[in-house]
Amino acid sequence: MSVSTTQAATGFSTKVQPRHLERLAVVYVRQSSLQQVQHHQESTRAQYGLKDTAARMGWPSARVVVIDEDLGISGASAEGRNGFQRLLAEVALDHVGIILGVEMSRLARSCKDWYQLLELCAAFGTLIGDLDGIYDPGQYNDRLLLGLKGTMSEAELHVLRQRLLQGREQKARRGELVLPVPSGYVRTPGGEVVLDPDEEVRAVVRALFEQFERLGSAHAVLRHFHRHGIRLGMRVCAGPLCGTLQWRRPQASTVVAMLRNPTYAGAYVYGRSVFDPRRQKPGRPGVGRVRVAPEHWLVCRRDVLPAYISWETYQRNLAQLASNQSRIAQKGAIRRGRALLQGLVVCGRCGTRMFTYFGKRVHPRYLCLRERHHHGGPCCQGLMARGLDDEVSRIVL
Ligand SMILES: [Zn+2]
Repeated sequence: MSVSTTQAATGFSTKVQPRHLERLAVVYVRQSSLQQVQHHQESTRAQYGLKDTAARMGWPSARVVVIDEDLGISGASAEGRNGFQRLLAEVALDHVGIILGVEMSRLARSCKDWYQLLELCAAFGTLIGDLDGIYDPGQYNDRLLLGLKGTMSEAELHVLRQRLLQGREQKARRGELVLPVPSGYVRTPGGEVVLDPDEEVRAVVRALFEQFERLGSAHAVLRHFHRHGIRLGMRVCAGPLCGTLQWRRPQASTVVAMLRNPTYAGAYVYGRSVFDPRRQKPGRPGVGRVRVAPEHWLVCRRDVLPAYISWETYQRNLAQLASNQSRIAQKGAIRRGRALLQGLVVCGRCGTRMFTYFGKRVHPRYLCLRERHHHGGPCCQGLMARGLDDEVSRIVL
């Protein structure tokens, strides 16, 4: 630290001009994960130490600002990092003479963010300094070097991520990657996946597949379960109650997920879904996964787990689900009708937004279908649209 500080103060000080000194020196502090923040306190301390570097180069302490809002936030993209956005804003407002940071290019791991910062710094005559020296983004040589540093940081991030993914994939190919097991299975302390020891849990899982065979749709199975008050036995998968049995009302999404889950056909499968960047939402890592067809699964080892159904039945179920879906899509074209409060009525009983139903022969109705959609239960309540629409028009319009 002391060596580079002296370097910064002497060897590169020709770049620091009065026009820089009369503006702010910004110290940008960042560690990308909370774990890093806790375990690499040395690095964080070094980053804060840059305040002294600024002082030694001639900045009065009143004009040294530390931006550390991004502690614990990944540098993969500037989104969600308020500190980085603030930094850009300050530069663009011509408030900043120099930005200091440890390994500056890491503060923007995505090259897009990094080049945006370089562009701005060049336009406003702002210097950039790290432990290796001080750069003027307005000068060709410095710009080239900064660009290279950014590219290398991005490559480093890519290599790290790739290594992590490959590790998981290789483990999965050997069948050793521990994946969560669905209702009807438990994992022994030794890591082996076996059928649930509870007879009733297994019976419900079998009933689900039998009823699907008989009724032909996931929703019909759900209604059947609701009518008979059948609950699914789920094992708590984390926390102090891990492994204990809980009986839950089946949900439509759970039933469909079970029918699609190849574990029940005795297969160990990895890579049933991939990320679709168009559907991804920043800050929500779980969103944006789309299913891939069985022939494109990364790993599929058949006949390695105890099965509830045969592989042929499993495939038949998938085909049945797909044909149900395409039938719904054909039928589901919205019929236009007159309902003033479409999408605005909220159910007074359960607070759900009500669905507007345009029947062929009947008048439009507002229906609360939450219970029906999620659990296969009855319609919560419904009413004719016309009466309510007239009343609202009279009061409001
Ligand atoms: Zn309701």
